[in-house]
Amino acid sequence: MSLYHKTITIAVGLIPLLLSLEIAPAAEWPYIRTVGPFVCRADFNLEPQHELLSELAALQAELVRTLQIAPAKEAIEVYLFHDEVTYRRYLERIYPTLPFRRAFFIRANGLGRVFAYKSSQFEADLRHECTHALLHAVLPFVPLWLDEGLASYFEVSARNRLNGAPYFSSVLWNARFGSVPKMEKLEKIGDVASMGKAEYRDSWAWIHFMCHGPSAARDELVEYLGDLAAQKPPGLLSERLARRIPSLSSEFKVSIKRAANSQTAQR
Ligand SMILES: [Zn+2]
Repeated sequence: MSLYHKTITIAVGLIPLLLSLEIAPAAEWPYIRTVGPFVCRADFNLEPQHELLSELAALQAELVRTLQIAPAKEAIEVYLFHDEVTYRRYLERIYPTLPFRRAFFIRANGLGRVFAYKSSQFEADLRHECTHALLHAVLPFVPLWLDEGLASYFEVSARNRLNGAPYFSSVLWNARFGSVPKMEKLEKIGDVASMGKAEYRDSWAWIHFMCHGPSAARDELVEYLGDLAAQKPPGLLSERLARRIPSLSSEFKVSIKRAANSQTAQR
């Protein structure tokens, strides 16, 4: 498994094998909790995960508020395992053709499913995959870089999103040396295998800018997602942003530096 391709999103109909899923019936899962649209089934006690489950419920409200997308109307199934061995064994039976991923989201036949196990990255993985699930529940299509950028942004706990994310310091460092990620390059990426650490970081950086930079940037993201939801050809977000914010590169640098100087720094 590649170090950085930790997650996978599978588009509707991509893998015909998914039609014959054999997920264990709900009654066979000893621990079940419903939080927001997520129906979580686990092979371990979910009671100590109370805070994480609350964050998942809050994630839906946060996406609605920040991105102004619709809330998911459907239930999203979440399957959680206490260790990697059990997780691997289960998935090899259900999805024998899929490469191993530490966590992933699959959407097939109108049903979204998230799988994860209690690795050292469990909480971030779960927030990441559940973000994919919420986006794909209401948007017919999301460009790959934007999908991964949003999932990477929301995988961080809410209190750390402004300036405590793992990618923050390298993006800040680059900006201080005058370097701004190229959204145009990200927009050309067509498959997840082409998303390495740099592409995840740059995708995260643009979402961070649109969420914490000038309000016009967030407005453009909201309108872009609105066009996706309405199945209107959205064009390129890089071009839309450049039209709306002529001094885009300098605004990007100002935004990340301002976030670094914020009193709410969490390190
Ligand atoms: Zn992802």
